[in-house]
Amino acid sequence: MVLRALAFVVTAVVTVALSLAFLTYSASRIDPANAYFQPTNIYRSGLQGTGTLALTFDDGPSAFTGALLDSLARNNVKATFFVVGARVRHHSDVLERMMREGHVIANHSFNHSRLGRRYANNPELLHTQIGRTNEAIAPFIRPGQGLYFRAPYGIWRRAHAEFLNADPVLKHYVGPVYWDIGGQVAVDDEGTVRAAADWDCWSKDFTAEQCGDGYLREIKRKGGGIVLMHDIRERSLWMVDYVLPKLTAAGYKFVTLDEVPRFDQYKTPVTEDVPVASDEGRLPFASPAR
Ligand SMILES: [Zn+2]
Repeated sequence: MVLRALAFVVTAVVTVALSLAFLTYSASRIDPANAYFQPTNIYRSGLQGTGTLALTFDDGPSAFTGALLDSLARNNVKATFFVVGARVRHHSDVLERMMREGHVIANHSFNHSRLGRRYANNPELLHTQIGRTNEAIAPFIRPGQGLYFRAPYGIWRRAHAEFLNADPVLKHYVGPVYWDIGGQVAVDDEGTVRAAADWDCWSKDFTAEQCGDGYLREIKRKGGGIVLMHDIRERSLWMVDYVLPKLTAAGYKFVTLDEVPRFDQYKTPVTEDVPVASDEGRLPFASPAR
């Protein structure tokens, strides 16, 4: 009788332990990383001077994204795509291909709104912008891929991070992710394009080569970084075709945001008793400067 009772207890303990192990395993598969939205843009990637480039393409997917994927494949480059949620259902085949070919798919809001005061005053609208996009891209995110967000126009509020970090799913985002290269066009007195931003190149009617040379010069000066480009205009594709062979020949290494070491600090595993970030001073890790 005693033995039978003992056997029962042992069986029960083993069952509970296995269930817990399974639940932990399932949770870790669903949540690839513990992260937090930051109160300001993450301005520092840590890639400058490392000879490493993380290409990021914003605002798609579009009719041109497939051709861009062809170009990336030809050059053996993996990139990160900050997609606009509302565009996803029209291009699900493109997202499927991105996933299959090893690119990282990330969140750039649902309809590219300026996430300023209006969204701080109506946080449920903010939740919709990021939550609906998260649902749209979820089927195309590989197990273990990190979740990344970039704010349209870089517009962000501290209150946004506080609100979103209370959401059990959305708090796993790393972001907002800024960029090192591609923020603006700069032309010197001799007329040399010293830095470029594709959208502005096209509004100034630059050629793909002029714009590409601007990117190449900024990349050379900084020696690496997160590069901002867009996949909604055909000229950006021509420019990518122009710069990629040159960058590869110069020995640059290409990574996705999953391979940016400095972002690991935003993925620090946290335990239940660590309070959800409500201000910078209480975050369980160092906040980025600036
Ligand atoms: Zn954008």
